[in-house]
Amino acid sequence: MTTIGILGAGQLGRMLALAGYPLGLTFHFYDPTPGSPAGQLAPQNVAAYDDRIALQRFAAGVDLVTYEFENVPAQTVRFLAQLVPVFPPPQALETAQDRLVEKTLFRQLGIPTPQFVTVDSLEDLQAAVHQTGLPAVLKTRRLGYDGKGQAVVRSPDDLAPAWQRLGKQNLILESFVAFDRELSVLAARGPDGGCVFYPLVENQHREGILRLSIAPAPNLTPMLQQTAESYAAAILEKLDYTGVLAVELFERDGVLLANEMAPRVHNSGHWTQNGAHPDQFECHLRAGLGWPLTQPVVTGFSAMINLIGDHPAAPEILQNPAAHLHLYAKSPRPGRKLGHINLCAASASELQAVLQAVCRNLFLEKVCL
Ligand code: AMP
Repeated sequence: MTTIGILGAGQLGRMLALAGYPLGLTFHFYDPTPGSPAGQLAPQNVAAYDDRIALQRFAAGVDLVTYEFENVPAQTVRFLAQLVPVFPPPQALETAQDRLVEKTLFRQLGIPTPQFVTVDSLEDLQAAVHQTGLPAVLKTRRLGYDGKGQAVVRSPDDLAPAWQRLGKQNLILESFVAFDRELSVLAARGPDGGCVFYPLVENQHREGILRLSIAPAPNLTPMLQQTAESYAAAILEKLDYTGVLAVELFERDGVLLANEMAPRVHNSGHWTQNGAHPDQFECHLRAGLGWPLTQPVVTGFSAMINLIGDHPAAPEILQNPAAHLHLYAKSPRPGRKLGHINLCAASASELQAVLQAVCRNLFLEKVCL
């Protein structure tokens, strides 16, 4: 029996376990927060990420470790990697945890990004706008997610308040991209270096949080897909990566600019649970185990609607015959991801019709349409 240890017991860990049980795998979670979504499915060590005794005990009970959350301290992952194989590799986590390191890597690999400048003081910020122009986006280098730790600066008067709000830590200033749309590509690499890719997905965010993904992205050209795959492949290769990687991109005038990467399964890949085989969760596990990593087969056209803050009751959602419901067993709270609905259709136009009908029925129009 192979036991996978997962750092973080949130919904991504929960869905990794749900994908792994049919493959005969067992799971063990490690998360400082008791009662987490994955804790219902498998044992969970409730201990701090710097508790070396608890980490040693955890490592002794598992064959392989992965993580479902990129703010797990890199030191925790490095410590565990001395005791048990860990994937994706610690250097991928360290890269994704610092926006400056991450964007510098993209540039080194020839992957276009928005213009960016490192900012460690108000004087730096005042100088940086000469390079990025205005508007620009000021971001914390570390620990930002779902649009948190960011401020848009539109005029020179916004600089001091933005520095006050986010300051006293290392920041970067990026040029504001007036993108046509946001896309992401999910890729996976096995220990033998073989890579597979899912089609580019179009993502719609509100207040920095993903609301809706459409897969494949409408009007996806082979050229755009190939470009995204080549960027993902360069990152996977450079980091000697194992597992699923997500790269978030902006598209402007047919050009892709990399925004950030996530060294894990990703919210914009949830559609694969009902729209591709294997799904991203199985793909991640297969890669980590060195099991056959087959190119995912995509069936038709999919949409994923995130259920955020609150949502209609399950029976109400399930009245929509096309709806595949995935709830995370979390209590409602504003801004919290509680679950998602996947929709599948045989054509792009049918998908739009189904999406609009489901959003109307569930009073989610503002989110989806
Ligand atoms: P992030 O945390 O970097 O993924 O940013 C969250 C969201 O903010 C993105 O999904 C975009 O909608 C928006 N955003 C981030 N960076 C930029 C940028 N440089 N230009 C325009 N919008 C941005």
